[in-house]
Amino acid sequence: MTRFIFITGGVVSSLGKGLTTAALGALLQARGYKVRLRKLDPYLNVDPGTMSPFEHGEVFVTDDGAETDLDLGHYERFTGVAAKKTDSISSGKIYSNVLDKERKGDYLGKTIQVIPHVTDEIKKFIEIGEDEVDFMLCEIGGTVGDIEGLPFFEAIRQFSQEKGVGSCIFMHLTLVPFIQTSGELKTKPTQHSVKELRSIGLTPDILVCRAKERIPEDEKKKLALFCNVKSDAIISAYDLKSIYDAPLAFHREFLDVAVLNAFQIKPSKKPDLSIWKDVSKNINFPEGEVRIAIVGKYTKLGDAYKSIAEALTHGGIANNTKVIAEWIDSEIFEKENTAAYLQNFSAILVPGGFGERGAEGKIMAAKFAREKKVPFFGICLGMQMAVVEAIRNLGEIKNASSEEFYYPYSDVKKDIVPIIFHLEKWIDKGKIVTRKVTDYKGGTMRLGAYDALLKSNSKVSKIYNAPSISERHRHRFEVDINYKEILEKNGFIFSGVSPDGLLPEIIEISDHPWFIGVQFHPELKSKPFSPHPLFADFIKAALMQSRLV
Ligand code: GLN
Repeated sequence: MTRFIFITGGVVSSLGKGLTTAALGALLQARGYKVRLRKLDPYLNVDPGTMSPFEHGEVFVTDDGAETDLDLGHYERFTGVAAKKTDSISSGKIYSNVLDKERKGDYLGKTIQVIPHVTDEIKKFIEIGEDEVDFMLCEIGGTVGDIEGLPFFEAIRQFSQEKGVGSCIFMHLTLVPFIQTSGELKTKPTQHSVKELRSIGLTPDILVCRAKERIPEDEKKKLALFCNVKSDAIISAYDLKSIYDAPLAFHREFLDVAVLNAFQIKPSKKPDLSIWKDVSKNINFPEGEVRIAIVGKYTKLGDAYKSIAEALTHGGIANNTKVIAEWIDSEIFEKENTAAYLQNFSAILVPGGFGERGAEGKIMAAKFAREKKVPFFGICLGMQMAVVEAIRNLGEIKNASSEEFYYPYSDVKKDIVPIIFHLEKWIDKGKIVTRKVTDYKGGTMRLGAYDALLKSNSKVSKIYNAPSISERHRHRFEVDINYKEILEKNGFIFSGVSPDGLLPEIIEISDHPWFIGVQFHPELKSKPFSPHPLFADFIKAALMQSRLV
């Protein structure tokens, strides 16, 4: 029988519901259970693909090409279970399904209402593939009390009624603030939050309480009494040095035991937490450190490049090294001297991005890394800008650029040589896909996992130790393969290409300690217990460089 765990949040947002869900998934796996983690988001966008990273943080892409919430990245990093399209849903998608059906006539004669039509659609989503797992963990985005979250709360209430006793539990994450002036921990916000939940028919089985430190027994008893939750089901979630300490910390607080108790399952044996002990030891006791410059556009919001930051940490784990990532707004280089900023870093990474703003600064960072032989990692737009730099400065095409920045893809008109062009045709699993500039923007990029063939004896084939790879993509534009010759004449090689040989997937410079650009997003597949080979090798190169500076 599949068991469902619903995770809701209260009091304030940003308490780490996604991380808590992910860490619980890892703990259940450590006890030998099969899990799948899901996110239900109340916003009206069909998916977060059309939102700015400033608004919503990174868009996480799955192998099967869905643009999803960044929490799915946490889920994958903690459980290693590859997320699917069916693990992320929003109100927008639910309503769009319901309205499609209404137009098709599937509900002929009926008045379409939130209850039952919208709630039915949510319930159907929750149970997709339930037979494949022991536990389905479903996180509800937002905070209890939000108007837009109501259909989701109502749907999970109905769902638990229909599934019957023992198949669903509710875990609520709240804040227990410490009031400095009175020197007290306050339980009232949690009491109110639970009251709010109860008013819509949901009774929490477990309370996970965020606080600076471990919550003392007295406060736990008080919470248990006022919130009608067993006191051993009140779990402290206190601040940790690293997010990867969370599975061990939650185990010490008996979260996994509380979950099994709530389902009346007797814990059979101790969980195997060895991978988390190794990760935690590596993170907390590194032997060295390196400073990496990340030159991008969305540097003001940490979540915008979440997977990159995590993948760098994983690269550090692989080398027993602490990675200090510093985020630099690329526009700075358009006004100030690049070398002054970048010379004190052991490596430079230019991540993905969209639009013209800051592009020239990224090009300058790539030039600095190429000329000064500093390790350089260009990801997606980062690779494209490294190619523009090389074609302009080595290939002597001074007005080389990307079509993305100019008319008809933007309002700006300029005479450029589009060496990065809008991809209008490609092959996806044997089928031809076509795109036009006039197509809708949502979900129309080249998305999801695609294979690439690696050139033998190239740096990347040694790093991956494989002749071919599969990596996740999210882009509309592409390096024009016709510039291969110019680039090769100038020391670059196209070390990874699509199976049909038409799309450059990886570029590298042979005579450089580490200069690699990739059209895909390797960061999306890195895990703390299995760092991505490119990130592991990049940090290794940065370590070597740090011994030189
Ligand atoms: N804007 C670029 C494109 O669409 C790069 C996208 C990215 O970096 N993810 O091709």
